[in-house]
Amino acid sequence: MKKNTAPRKESQIKKEEDMATTESYEEAIAGLTKLLSDKADLGAVAAAKIKQITAELEKSGSNQFDPVDRIKTGFIHFKKEKFEKNPELYGELAKSQKPKFMVFACSDSRVCPSHILNFQPGEAFMIRNIANMVPPFDKTKYSGVGAAIEYAVLHLKVEHIVVIGHSCCGGIKGLMSIPDDGTTASDFIEHWVQICSPAKAKVKAEYSGLSFSEQCTNCEKEAVNVSLGNLLTYPFVRDGLVKKTLALKGAHYDFVKGTFDLWDLDFKISPSISV
Ligand SMILES: [Zn+2]
Repeated sequence: MKKNTAPRKESQIKKEEDMATTESYEEAIAGLTKLLSDKADLGAVAAAKIKQITAELEKSGSNQFDPVDRIKTGFIHFKKEKFEKNPELYGELAKSQKPKFMVFACSDSRVCPSHILNFQPGEAFMIRNIANMVPPFDKTKYSGVGAAIEYAVLHLKVEHIVVIGHSCCGGIKGLMSIPDDGTTASDFIEHWVQICSPAKAKVKAEYSGLSFSEQCTNCEKEAVNVSLGNLLTYPFVRDGLVKKTLALKGAHYDFVKGTFDLWDLDFKISPSISV
């Protein structure tokens, strides 16, 4: 008779493994019980071993996350694989930084520019905040962002400022969800994301026929354009654009499709007219 050699389905194998585990576990306990009833003097040794096994199982079963261990492991990996293997780069960086890029990206843990664009240390000066927004020039309200832009442009002399939006952005969804009467419920978030209210207004006006999720996607891109426009309110940014030592770029990273769009905005800036 011909043997059935058809491969077993994975689910079937899993089921069989589970059953085997159950059976062998029961067998093991039965075997231990029998052994201890036959040789009572082994009780103390068995108790010590069972305690040890219990401790090991608790450790592996609970799978507890150890933040300190995670940080240490991460740094050791970086130090061995990057820092110690690139003494030239890290030697240079120890003296100074000369990044060509300033990057605005969302705080979202899935959109780290160093990962998605393979930026190495020293390549990109970064600001990450909710929904990668650039507020307009304001010395009191947004001084943290202003200080970073000023430092990047005037001191580091970056050549490109890139604002990167992304798919499924919670900040943009939050902006799009603010009711028309302007009621807000958060201490900071909704106030912050309203920096890009003009993007929301544009999307609501031009894409009213689209689903909410599609409107959010469009708003993710329009908000980048609003941020690029806001960059023009910083005198040193305007100056850099006029002198052509600085360029602005918009981008949108879609982590669902795995795509990255990059675009320029032509602001048609001309030098200030002095009379
Ligand atoms: Zn986001």
